[in-house]
Amino acid sequence: MARTAIVTGGTRGIGAAIAVALKEAGCTVAANYAGNDEAAQSFNAETGIPVYKWSVADYEACAGGIAQVEADLGPVDILVNNAGITRDAPFHKMTRDQWTDVINTNLNGVFNMTHPVWNGMRERKFGRVITISSINGQKGQFAQANYSASKAGDLGFTKALAQEGARNGITVNAICPGYIGTDMVMAVPEKVRESIIAQIPVGRLGEAAEIARCVVFLASDDAGFITGSTITANGGQYFA
Ligand code: NDP
Repeated sequence: MARTAIVTGGTRGIGAAIAVALKEAGCTVAANYAGNDEAAQSFNAETGIPVYKWSVADYEACAGGIAQVEADLGPVDILVNNAGITRDAPFHKMTRDQWTDVINTNLNGVFNMTHPVWNGMRERKFGRVITISSINGQKGQFAQANYSASKAGDLGFTKALAQEGARNGITVNAICPGYIGTDMVMAVPEKVRESIIAQIPVGRLGEAAEIARCVVFLASDDAGFITGSTITANGGQYFA
């Protein structure tokens, strides 16, 4: 697959696995990240994938970052909106900052990244926009009104934009992972994590590489008839 791809949040966790899998599939890949320089540098040293620092929550920074990637690597064919954060709290304790930070990164970030690449994809009559939503955007989750709202918003975005991209060879799809063993999930207290695993029919957390393989498929030419879809990959925990 000789395409150029950007993976947001591509230096750790699921995003890092996606960046590596796209590279292995033959793509030229740029991995974006927000602030963890150490993780980004070691990812770059291990994989050779160039890393670019900007926040997806900042529209101007996204436009500037994408312009830099395109100058370095060529026009973006594949955008993987993977960057995401949690700021969990039961709603009665949730602050406006917790709400706004999550919406700005997980939902506005998807607009901020997709908008600057959209017209180029339209002109070139090819594009793949793949957004990593979440099981908790499908079913809702206690203490995640902000996160669940942002991830459900990503699914609405995907379905709407798929209709706009279809005539120009652009597919727009989402993946809803269940619980994957990344820093985000390992930060949850062990007892809570054990109770989460007990609710997963396959009896384990998912692996980042399992999500990455879904992305590679959606990015491929073989997936050209799939648009506006959601791949649910959650070990049987929830059937959307
Ligand atoms: P991690 O916390 O392991 O990694 C998050 C990545 O996103 C990091 O590279 C981080 O950069 C980057 N990032 C965070 N905020 C921004 C920002 N504002 N701008 C640019 N990059 C940013 O997350 P996961 O790998 O676990 O999750 C990846 C995606 O998958 C998220 O969207 C998450 O919501 C979703 N997801 C995860 C699940 C899981 O079980 N892990 C389940 C369902 C969905 P830096 O290193 O600089 O901090």
